[in-house]
Amino acid sequence: MAIVERIEAATPDARRRLRHSNPATLASLGEIEVATSGDVRAAVERARKAQPAWAALSFAERGRFLERAARELAARQDEFVAEIVAETGKPELEALTTEVITACDALVFYAKRAGRILAERTLPVHLLKTKKLRVAYRPLGVVGIITPWNFPFILSLNPTLQALVAGNTVVLKPSEVTPRSGRLVEELWNAVGLPEGVFQLVQGDGETGAALLTAGVDKICFTGSVATGRRVAEVCGRELVPCTLELGGKDPMIVCADADLERAARGAVYGAFTNSGQVCTSTERVYVVDEVADAFTRKVVEETGRLRQGATGEFDVGAIIDAKQLDVIEDHVRDAVTRGARVLAGGRRNPSCSGLFYEPTVLVDVSHDMQVMRDETFGPVLPIMRVRDEQEALALANDSPYGLNANVWTRSKRRGIELAGGIESGCVVVNDCMLTYGVTESPFGGAKHSGIGRVNGEIGLQGFCRVQSILIDRFGGKTEPLWYPYSARKLRLLRGALRWIWGTSFGRLLS
Ligand code: NAD
Repeated sequence: MAIVERIEAATPDARRRLRHSNPATLASLGEIEVATSGDVRAAVERARKAQPAWAALSFAERGRFLERAARELAARQDEFVAEIVAETGKPELEALTTEVITACDALVFYAKRAGRILAERTLPVHLLKTKKLRVAYRPLGVVGIITPWNFPFILSLNPTLQALVAGNTVVLKPSEVTPRSGRLVEELWNAVGLPEGVFQLVQGDGETGAALLTAGVDKICFTGSVATGRRVAEVCGRELVPCTLELGGKDPMIVCADADLERAARGAVYGAFTNSGQVCTSTERVYVVDEVADAFTRKVVEETGRLRQGATGEFDVGAIIDAKQLDVIEDHVRDAVTRGARVLAGGRRNPSCSGLFYEPTVLVDVSHDMQVMRDETFGPVLPIMRVRDEQEALALANDSPYGLNANVWTRSKRRGIELAGGIESGCVVVNDCMLTYGVTESPFGGAKHSGIGRVNGEIGLQGFCRVQSILIDRFGGKTEPLWYPYSARKLRLLRGALRWIWGTSFGRLLS
């Protein structure tokens, strides 16, 4: 079942179209028109024209648009949630919390703090006391934002609002799988009266995204798979366009012998099955130490058995976005079972649902040669591996090209922080899971193949700026000691200074 169908242009001057269906009910959602590369270039030009006036506003003035957007979103939450649910098949509660509430929080958080985070500041100069240093955060210009389908609203809105509050204008290309959520972002900015050209939406698929990379933007903020991220990085490298890459993960969970097993099991089930496992920070593999493995696994299976899957009424686990994703999940489970894994729960498409559903699945007797332990599954599958001790867990957790997020479960916070420090990932959570994207202060991003750069927090916001250093001479005078003419005496003095300042402990203390 294709949830997105490509419809070729009927005439040479017509645009291609994409037809969509709801993955949970298979009901038609209509069609969208795909932007051409000419449309994309025109959008970037309009954004370029609008940028100076937008950047000339104060942080407080720009922030007021964000605060208004939060109010609008709070008032129209039902409408936004319904649209996101129709397009993704996720439970209403997940759409509300992870998409809408997180969005309101981010809008107000950055509206209130951007002025402080991006304030021009004076830094002391430790050596050249005759100079003063100022560091300023200037807008970059036009930012191109390309986003995926799994959290189609928040992952489009969040980088957009950060780029905007920093004084940039934005061209957003949402996923072709979830164009309506992209349109919600546009509707929100329209509703708060953002000036013409400051935010623009271009709809389309990979071709549209590729066109945005070369349309003259000043930065690309990309969220998506490792494979596409690599292509984006190649083009940005050639064009010398800075890019942030927020890519896939294969997040490990480590359960220590002293963990609260009740909490850890519930955390594993939530971490693996929320959004049907289609989360970049899903718990995708568990390493549990031998002495608690049986008890932990039993609790996980019990907890999984209580989950309700569906499309209407009260349910916990929603649909899978499309047939391609379902195939990946099935392949991973089949490969694991063929190599000796045992299915303790799920392990198949849900026969009682008419849409695209895969049952929450628990696997044991898994090993690291199985796809389910190596490649991103992006589905409701929780493989549990028994390990000798925490050291083996750590070594296996790091035996992966991915390094986005991880979680560690122990009653000792000190041990948790120690283990977290040993994990090669951008983020780690102790005694909880995921969360790192939702905690607005937390810089979010990957290590290894999971990405380059950070979004969120102070570092993320500063990433939407050109950092400018301004060095100012304090006292004037007709010349400087290092200017011309050079002489043997100047050379002798500098050699002496070098010996004294960095060659003696007193000098090093003063420097
Ligand atoms: P994807 O890479 O297939 O697509 C992402 C976006 O890139 C889409 O908008 C797509 O149209 C566009 N695109 C495709 N080809 C392009 C090209 N050549 N040039 C420019 N743009 C192009 O990813 P997806 O299937 O939409 O999303 C799932 C992936 O995203 C998973 O791997 C998931 O882990 C990852 N993800 C990462 C984060 C994070 O913050 N690290 C968050 C969510 C999802």
